Amino acid sequence: MALIVQKYGGSSVATVPRIEHVARKAAATRSAGNDIVVVLSAMKGETDRLLALAYEVSHSQCPAPRELDMLLSTGEQVTIALLTMALERLGVAARCYTGAQVRILTDSSHSKARILDIDEEHLVEDLKLGRIVVVAGFQGVDETGAITTLGRGGSDTTAVALAAALGAGECQIFTDVDGVYTTDPRVVPTARRLDRITFEEMLEMASLGSKVLQIRAVEFAGKYQVPLRVLSSFEEGPGTLITYEVEGMEEPLISSIAFNRDEAKLTILGVPDRPGIAAQILGPVSAANINVDMIVQNISKEGLTDFTFTVHRSEYERALELTQKHAQELGAREVFGDTDIVKLSLVGVGMRSHAAVASRMFTALADEGINIQMISTSEIKISVVVDEKYLELGTRALHRAFDLDDKDGRRVKVEGAEVG
Ligand code: ASP
Ligand code: MG
Repeated sequence: MALIVQKYGGSSVATVPRIEHVARKAAATRSAGNDIVVVLSAMKGETDRLLALAYEVSHSQCPAPRELDMLLSTGEQVTIALLTMALERLGVAARCYTGAQVRILTDSSHSKARILDIDEEHLVEDLKLGRIVVVAGFQGVDETGAITTLGRGGSDTTAVALAAALGAGECQIFTDVDGVYTTDPRVVPTARRLDRITFEEMLEMASLGSKVLQIRAVEFAGKYQVPLRVLSSFEEGPGTLITYEVEGMEEPLISSIAFNRDEAKLTILGVPDRPGIAAQILGPVSAANINVDMIVQNISKEGLTDFTFTVHRSEYERALELTQKHAQELGAREVFGDTDIVKLSLVGVGMRSHAAVASRMFTALADEGINIQMISTSEIKISVVVDEKYLELGTRALHRAFDLDDKDGRRVKVEGAEVG
């Protein structure tokens, strides 16, 4: 008998009929002879609703972190109770627990707490008694007994952590898409569902802005080697298995194309090219806790150079102001910024052993007349920054250039995929 952890996202438990549907699915997996732990999100939109209430009562000031977590954790408490009632109605023994009741021990960083330990004892006892165990996602409790939350989308992390603690055979993440795709089907309708992808690739995709899974959940799954599967709650299908690289198995050159609209670019023109200049430019930015992603420094001409870097768009104004204030001291001629950019990235463990990926990528973009502004690479990824207006054209060109289009010419229908 295998132990399976199933996580259902907000849209899968958005209404009573959907909760009843989840109950039937969990019951069916149970009757097939598996032990089941179900982890739930709050009903779709509920966490946002609670968050808005907190800001309203705080008159838009930051609400107290401890009380905010107390509030936000209630969304999941509603769905676990309802699902357990629905299971009982079907005649299936079940029991639900909040994070604190399980004792999912976390640190005390409210709204982004990390899991330190899980007390799996009574969950194991329930499973032995044949019960389905239902656990509230997204939450834990710190040493002092305060309720904590794990960050938006954190139910994924709860599910993976429970799967690791209980030694589950698989952690299944049910959502409203039927798997992980070669790219966003809303941009490329011929995008293809992947049968499998490695933890490493998934981690790159998540950090590049693909929102199928919470990044921390993928990190956790990779670290504890928990096989993860993304599946649709509404359609039958194998979904996408996220797992480790199998030795000797031929990996595809490129598994997917990610894009990210969340960055902005800053350029400092005509700075004296001397040792320490990069540190001087980026020092104030990092001191202000602003993350820098890509960095490019030009070769210098007559002792002057240009320096460009990207930051998250939400931190752009602050970074620009800081850099402008600082420019005079640096002796720079001019500072300017650009928010109309997009980062396109190829991801694939197969590119590790192939040198020709970059040139194929650049040729495909050039053929469409797309100018590349910045480039960065890692072992399994190549990213370029281009003008935002080329997002669709560029992604489609790359999808074609690396043969990712669905061979059967199937086009994916999507209606606002679930995020969070
Ligand atoms: N309900 C939380 C959120 O909306 C956690 C989750 O859904 O995973 O972010
Ligand atoms: Mg989610």
